[in-house]
Parts: sequence; structure tokens; C-alpha cells
Amino acid sequence: MNEIETLRHSTAHILATAILRLWPEAQFAAGPPVENGFYYDVELSHRITPEDFAAIEAEMKKEIKANHRFERVEISRDDAIAMAQRGELAALGNRAEASKFKLDIVQHIPDGEVITLYRNGEFTDLCAGPHVSHTGRIGAFKLTHVASAYYKGDEKNPQLQRIYGTAFKNKTEMAAYFDMLEEARKRDHRKLGREMELFCFDDDVGPGLPLWMPNGTVLIEELEKLAKESEFAAGYSRVRTPHLARKSMYLCSGHLPYYAESMFPPMELKMDEETMREIIDIEDELRQTDERIQRMEFQHSQAERQFGDKSDEMLQEEKDLEDWKAGREKTLKRIEDKRSQYSYYLKAMNCPHHHKIFGAVPRSYRELPLRLAEYGTCYRFEQSGELLGLMRVRSMQMNDAHIYCTPEQFEQEFMAVNDMYLKYFKIFGLEKYLMRFSTHDPARLGEKFVNEPEMWLKTEDMVRNVLIKSGINYVEVPNEAAFYGPKIDVQVWSAIGREFTIATNQVDFAVPKRFGLAYRDRDNTDKTPLCIHRAPLGTHERFVGFLIEHYAGNFPLWLAPEQVRIMTIGDEEPLVEFAKKIWAQLRDNEIRAELDLGNDKINGKIQKAEQSKVHTMLVIGNRDLESGAVSVRVHGQGNLGAKPYQEVVDGIIASVAERRA
Ligand SMILES: [Zn+2]
Ligand SMILES: [Zn+2]
Repeated sequence: MNEIETLRHSTAHILATAILRLWPEAQFAAGPPVENGFYYDVELSHRITPEDFAAIEAEMKKEIKANHRFERVEISRDDAIAMAQRGELAALGNRAEASKFKLDIVQHIPDGEVITLYRNGEFTDLCAGPHVSHTGRIGAFKLTHVASAYYKGDEKNPQLQRIYGTAFKNKTEMAAYFDMLEEARKRDHRKLGREMELFCFDDDVGPGLPLWMPNGTVLIEELEKLAKESEFAAGYSRVRTPHLARKSMYLCSGHLPYYAESMFPPMELKMDEETMREIIDIEDELRQTDERIQRMEFQHSQAERQFGDKSDEMLQEEKDLEDWKAGREKTLKRIEDKRSQYSYYLKAMNCPHHHKIFGAVPRSYRELPLRLAEYGTCYRFEQSGELLGLMRVRSMQMNDAHIYCTPEQFEQEFMAVNDMYLKYFKIFGLEKYLMRFSTHDPARLGEKFVNEPEMWLKTEDMVRNVLIKSGINYVEVPNEAAFYGPKIDVQVWSAIGREFTIATNQVDFAVPKRFGLAYRDRDNTDKTPLCIHRAPLGTHERFVGFLIEHYAGNFPLWLAPEQVRIMTIGDEEPLVEFAKKIWAQLRDNEIRAELDLGNDKINGKIQKAEQSKVHTMLVIGNRDLESGAVSVRVHGQGNLGAKPYQEVVDGIIASVAERRA
């Protein structure tokens, strides 16, 4: 538990203390800290509702004011069980009923683990801690909502009331948090996405499969343009790959069977008769092999019983048996290979397709680094309960690229990837970001992490060097690397201080080998390249979702779906002509400009444009016409006054070209 989690979990004990003062019979289960707060699960015949919060919070305040010490006590298992039986755990003293959940929890603590109690005032709880020193340390807290939950998450167990709250070091921090939540609600990407007609979902298309409407498509195409420009400048080559592949490829990549649950189920094609016959033949072969193996095993065990000691002949028999068994495995694989040619999966990742492109022609060290980029569409079968607007979807387009390089080239390549991130952060005005660098745990090699101890150390060192050299803000997280190599998760904070994980970089030193990827080195030997997976702009879905909140839908000029709207005060011919002339000039320069030439009142036109979050409004009246000027209005900034029209047009073109904030 970190500092704030400790504070919040301590508040959970105070919540339990308060509930017991009001309802002494309450039975408590678990009360851990969670993201942004804490909860405590309680069984109580009274249904706690938000109307009870004031009374509970008043009791909590008393406990905080009393400033009791959180006292840690080590206790034997027997004593803990006895206390639970007397109803004294998660209680203010002994009670008629046993503390049944705590009793169950004590009984499940593994042997040899130290059992501890924590006391504050009269309240005693079974808890591993840690806690703050005194109850008075809780500067500010608030109960937020009640939900229901089964004990230990199992629906066969009793249903409990889960009381949620949050706590902070002081009132200012808590106020800032609730302000942020309120602002986040206003900026909710699902709400703005609907209002601004950026994207939609449809039941007939399916959950988690966003449809990008014209305005949202503008955002996506601008992001792709940005990616293509920066990747071109950084020496990437673009590729395009299909949305599906045969099962055999995902067996090779290792996605199957381990990742099968997050993939859409396979499409099974009808097998042609010839293959079916082939499979029947191979299955016959397999049956004969099985009979042969059984016979050999039987004879061998008979001989063993008869002679005891192993003769040379018997050793030879054992070896033959091993060979037959190996042959059987190969036959099984031949059947599987045949079948898997008729099974197709939607791709969950672009990597295997790119690996195949790398492997399609013989590669020389002279071609490295080879950087293959694609805004590739992937499909993941997320549980329907976990789908959330654009943040968790089933189809996603990824700003993907794979960099194949030699170990000597790695640092420079990785540095260049980081530079690209920094460039993007600047464009989007992201001031706060963090790279979470996940490394392996040597104790879990061969189990959680691929068993290549030297490669782990080497690549982790290289990544660390780059992070230090580039002065990027990072933390190192042990034991959370991917199976095939160290990874970096990129976290950014939106303008209102909410945290998003937008992208992941990964170093991969194992999969290229599985795919048999190689390059001919200077010394004329074949070597396996390293592969860097990188996606600085993440997926379109998540990144646009983030940008909607970050900008509250008020996109900078270069991103705004409608960049400019030209409005006339009146509909006289010369006015309309002037407006059309400016409009044509903007359109010629690929500026998304629209016209509003009707006879409506200008205030109404402006209001309509403001509501649609049009970035720049150009208003033309008769007086402007004489002087060749336009009145400029920018969404969110109001009226900026009249300016010569050519100056305004040039300014708009420059702002878009430079992707100004
Ligand atoms: Zn505790
Ligand atoms: Zn990849």
C-alpha cells in the first residue's frame, strides 16, 4: 500500500467503527483501498442508503477528532480464532454473534504467516496493515455510494453491502478531486461524442464496435496524417495487412492457446474432400502407431518383470519406444496443421503479420533497422460488461509499428521512439506524463517470463539507459514485464488531471526467433533481430476518447471537424460573392470551411456555430466588404475584431500547417 492507499484503508477502519456505533451487530468482511478511495463490505439487516451517510460521517468525525492511535498487535492463530468466536473482530467489544467473516478469513490465512490486529480506540480489526499513526491523520473524507457484492465475489456466498468512500490528506485536495470529477462528467467522451456527432454504436453492428461519423472521421484522419508525416520523417516504411489470418499463424506467435479468450472465436471453413481424405489417412497412421506403442510397452514390461536387470537389447527397445512416441507427436501435429489451415481468426495484434513481411524476403544487416508501420485494425473479444464507450472496444485501429534492429542499433532506435512521443506530447499540450518501465523477476524465469536471463538484463539495461539519457519522467516496476521482454506503458494526464494509459512500447527478443526471423550479418552468419513494438498514439478509439476529454470537445484549429464557418450579415449578392471567394481560397488550401449565407439574424448564426464548436467564425457585413476585412470570432475566445481578410486566411493556413495548440 502506498501512502494515500494507507490513509484510505485507515478510513475504512474508521467507517467500520462508525457503523458499529450505530448498528453494533454489523458483520464486516473485507475493506481494501481501491482506485481513488476505499470500501468496506458489511452484512447488516438495515439497508444503508445515502440518507444514512450524514449520521455515519458524523460518527466518523468523532473518531477522527478523538485522534486514537492505530495500534498493531501480533496474535496467535488460536487467539485470533477465539476472538472471532466471541464476536470481537471488526467490533467494539465482544458480541452475541461470532465475527463470522473474520473467522473464515483467519482460518484461511496460510500457516506461518504473522497474524495481526489493528486497534483504534475501542475498535479492533483483523488486518495486515499498514495504517496511519493516528485517526486524526485523516484530513478529509467522504462516503460516496453503496453497492452490493457477494462475500469473496462468489454468488453462492451471502450478499453484502459495499460502502464506498474516499479520503485525502486535506480538504483542498478533496475539493480538487470532486471538482475534477464534475468537470470529467461534463467532458465525458460518450456525451460529447453524441452531441458533436463524432461516433456512434448500433445494436445491429454489435457492442464495442464504434462507427465513426463524418466529424469523428476528421479527427482520425488528422491523427493518421500526423503519424504518417512523423513516421516518414523517422524513416518508417508503411505496410498494409489483412484483418484475419489462419490459426497456424497465431499458434506460431503464441497467441493461441493462451490468448484465445480475448480473440473472437475462429471462422471454420469447409474442408475440401482431398484434405479430408488425407486427414483420415493420417488418423489411420496414428491408430497403427498407437497400437504399435501399446504392444511395445506391453512386451517391454513383460521383459522387465522376467529379467530384472536391463540388457542392452532392452535399452535399445526403450530408445525405439521413445522414437515411436516422438513420431506420434509429429503425426498429431500434421493433423493439427491440416485442420488449422481451415480455421481463421480476426487479428488481435498486428505483430505476426508484420513479422511475416519481415520474413518474406532474405534480409541483410544493411537493411536494418527496418521499421514497418501500419494503422492496423485489431479485434479483441472484450467481455460485454467491460465495454466502455471508446475506452474499451472490440475493434480498434492501432498506431502500430515494428522496428527490427540489431542489438547495436537498439538504443538509437528506442531513443527515436521516445523523441516521437515527446513531439506528440508537445503538439497535444500534455504537460504531465509518465513512462512505467516494467521489468522481469529473475525468480520467475521460464514461468512468467521467457527463460533468457542474459537477454533480459541486456535489454532492460538498454531501455534504462535510454530513459535516463533522454531525461524522460519514468518509474521502474519490477515483475510486470510482458512474457517476451520489458515493456513501457505510457501514462498521460488530461487537462483536468485524469490519468490515461494511452500506449505501450515493448521490446521483444523471443518472438522473432519463434517466427524464424533472421538477417545475414556482416560476418555472413544468420542472426535474430530484436523487435521494438511501439504505438505512440495508441489506438484511435482510446486516443480520440482521451482527446475529447482533454480538449472538452474544443479541438485546436488543426483538429477541429469544422475549422471555419463564414457567415454573412444579410444575403445581398456582393456579400455572398465575397464570402464565397474567401471560402474557395480556404478550401483550396484544404481548410474545412463552410458557408452560412442565409437571411437569418447574425446572432442566431453565431449561436448555432458556437454550439457546434466551430473553431473560427468569420463574419462579413457591408462595411467589411468595402474595406476587404472580416470580423474574426474564435470559439471560446469571443470576438477578436476585424482584420484584412487575406491576413486572416494566411493565419488560418499557417496555424493548421504548424498544428498550433
Ligand atoms: Zn486495516
Ligand atoms: Zn506488436
